Amino acid sequence: MKKETVLGVDLGGTKILIGELDQAGNILESKSFRSKVTSQVEAVEQIKEVIASYFENEKLQGQLVAISIDLVGRVDSEKGIWYEIHPENAKEIPLAQEISQRFNLPVVINNDVSSASLAEMELGIGKKTKDFIYLNIGTGIAGRIIAEGQLLKGGHSNAGEIGHSLVGINNHVRCVCGRIACVETFASGLGMSNEVHRLKNKYPTQLEITDKHRVSGEEIINAFQKNDPLAKEVVEQATKGIAELIMNLVRTSDPEAVILGGGLANNDIFYELMLEKLNANTMRFVTEGVHQTEIDPRLIALKGCAVHAFKKLAGKEAQ
Ligand SMILES: [Zn+2]
Repeated sequence: MKKETVLGVDLGGTKILIGELDQAGNILESKSFRSKVTSQVEAVEQIKEVIASYFENEKLQGQLVAISIDLVGRVDSEKGIWYEIHPENAKEIPLAQEISQRFNLPVVINNDVSSASLAEMELGIGKKTKDFIYLNIGTGIAGRIIAEGQLLKGGHSNAGEIGHSLVGINNHVRCVCGRIACVETFASGLGMSNEVHRLKNKYPTQLEITDKHRVSGEEIINAFQKNDPLAKEVVEQATKGIAELIMNLVRTSDPEAVILGGGLANNDIFYELMLEKLNANTMRFVTEGVHQTEIDPRLIALKGCAVHAFKKLAGKEAQ
């Protein structure tokens, strides 16, 4: 008999990944496409297209038991509802039901950061401790608290949006959420680019900065290594901000580990600079340490699709 598998779909800001996974989170086959997430309706159409195309063009290797979808924004995984990409881009869509009716399979949905933290729980740091924080630092900043093996999701599936907290670096920039100087406004990939634009007349720089062009985290960190004054300021305040954020979270849930995911966190220079700024006394009970995820950061959320679906099918509380 063929082993049970799920079809995972990970919708990200720039790409959509689809693949067949087994219960251990192994990816048997996967495809990647550019994503369209300007609206939920557009994204849902694309999700349906990539699933239909997968069934048409790929040979399934296992016995498919469910479709499991990761989304950006606020998702109620219990009710199967996708509420919003962000508050100004919101439409209540009963996505699990819609996809299930179309493809005649059980469907589960989840937020992508929640899904990545489930992958950490089953396939990564969770093997050592059930109390940890998963922090994703990419275009934006979000995290998840896992306490006593339970993922904290909150009353409105909106827990862990910690990019919108303040950490004592006041850049006077109003965030998309309405607050001023949220850590995401200067310490995420997009935030660092915005800071390069905001501070470009204050510090000399070799960085190429043209109107509205997003300067990548990698470009900024490369310039930092060449002692570029603007890049130095932007990288120093970003890594300070992330360190402060981590210490605030450590004081909140007393974790034994902090795991970092996302493109920026995966940069060794950024990561090392941030580590130096952690206070030993604050971090003394984080016995398993602060680490970059050991799961491939490009695939962690897709692997989380499998973890989520198999947990749900087994009748266990998955989120
Ligand atoms: Zn904010």
